[in-house]
Amino acid sequence: MPTPPPFHDRFTRTLPADPSRENRPRTVKAACYSHVMPARAKAPKLVAHSREVAELLGLSESDVASPWFLDMVSGNALPEGAQPYAMCYGGHQFGHWAGQLGDGRAINLGELVGSDGDHWTLQLKGAGPTPYSRTADGYAVLRSSVREFLCSEAMHHLGVPTTRALSLVTTGDSVVRDMFYNGNARPEPGAIVCRVARSFVRFGSFQIFASQQSDEASAALRTLAETTIRWHHPELGDPTTDASTYPRWFAHVCGLTAELMVEWMRVGYVHGVMNTDNMSILGETIDYGPYGWIDNYDPDWTPNTTDSAERRYRFGHQPQIAQWNLAQLGGALIPLTGDLEPFQAALNEYQGVFAERWHAMMLSKLGLATARDDDDELVTEWLAVLALTETDMTLAYRSLASIPSADDDALADTLHAAYYAPDGLTTATRERTTAWLRRYRARLDAEGSDDIERAARMATVNPLYVPRNYLAQLAIDKAEQGDNSGVIELLDAYRRPYDERPELSHLAGKRPDWARTRPGCSMLSCSS
Ligand code: AMP
Ligand code: MG
Repeated sequence: MPTPPPFHDRFTRTLPADPSRENRPRTVKAACYSHVMPARAKAPKLVAHSREVAELLGLSESDVASPWFLDMVSGNALPEGAQPYAMCYGGHQFGHWAGQLGDGRAINLGELVGSDGDHWTLQLKGAGPTPYSRTADGYAVLRSSVREFLCSEAMHHLGVPTTRALSLVTTGDSVVRDMFYNGNARPEPGAIVCRVARSFVRFGSFQIFASQQSDEASAALRTLAETTIRWHHPELGDPTTDASTYPRWFAHVCGLTAELMVEWMRVGYVHGVMNTDNMSILGETIDYGPYGWIDNYDPDWTPNTTDSAERRYRFGHQPQIAQWNLAQLGGALIPLTGDLEPFQAALNEYQGVFAERWHAMMLSKLGLATARDDDDELVTEWLAVLALTETDMTLAYRSLASIPSADDDALADTLHAAYYAPDGLTTATRERTTAWLRRYRARLDAEGSDDIERAARMATVNPLYVPRNYLAQLAIDKAEQGDNSGVIELLDAYRRPYDERPELSHLAGKRPDWARTRPGCSMLSCSS
């Protein structure tokens, strides 16, 4: 295409707008968005793009190579039909209501209709200040943009619901950041990720209106809820003629969120900042900041140094936090019907839905094709065994898939490759682990498990290549020197995260010792 495809504007046409076009930090009332122009990037360069997302949007590889593409994804030229805007939302941050937040550094261009017929919103993250920038600058640095770009595409290929990433560009401008808020500010390369999603609406998009307590805000809440249902879940009913559609939709959001939590637990992902403004109404992973991937299995681990004292968003706590966040969303939706009870009932279902899906997910990770009464205990003991000594979560499941037969002496060494300190195992750890492995082997034999068939099945739910923090950091180190090969290599590896490829063995190993304490590898902050 010689020019970008024309953009659609159903979001800005349908939802209430902020009447002001003044681009300075300010409070916006009863509006879903404000019109705002992206800032000019000095010398944009394409670092990488996702060919799958391009294809979804009907863009060919030659489109991606054309000058208009770079102009579009760096915010330097507006495609026809684009009406750029930043969204207004609020949120609970670390358990406290924070008031108005909004897209402080994300500017939506509008929508392209994908090859699937859906409307996909393109959003430039790091494209300059908006009325929601508060005291910050509206920009993003390369390190956090590499992380967002890679992880969103990796998540998609892992089968986890997520926003997508079309492209990653450097802007040619530098952005000053104090990475650990400790007085060490330095200029870093600026970057923009073009994020793509069916919707960027968050729990906080509804909460903001409930908090504003005005007739205009109530009307905006209703319009946003109606529109979200009509565009994304029309099968649930028409809320304009049947108000029970609202709690039914909320129940659906609870279910989607429960499923998302199960998926995060399956792959070992820790979001790091599960504030209600970072929860997608579609149940997708959104806003990749100081996230991390579990290396050694530890349910108490969080990568986010900003949360190191309370560890509110630690790995094992995410399902409960999601429920807490849903309670805040449910509370904000009650004015739609004036009746708390059905929203409460929907929320009460969350725990049961999560537990059921989680259990099924754990059985699939263990390769069990049938369910038995004592499986709960088998799973609980497995997770206890995983935590006895530093054991790589990803590699442990891959190792289990090739557990030797019951009479093989090597059975006790099944997890050997997953240990961070294989020589330091205590006798107690060894014995408890071996006891579990024997029990597991007996359980497999009892269901007549075929080793080859089971290993193949397990390899479809237990990934081998996950965006380990240290790998992303190595790619970032190179990218900051102008060498994009690390980003490209990881993007390619994460396209097929379940298929072992010998040439990628260097991307499948345990976290090396040097990465244990290196910033960016085990410690991250909200500074991005
Ligand atoms: P986060 O915790 O990264 O999701 O961000 C919380 C809020 O801060 C959101 O409203 C963001 O848009 C805003 N924000 C984060 N970083 C910046 C930045 N560099 N400039 C402007 N706003 C930002
Ligand atoms: Mg956010």
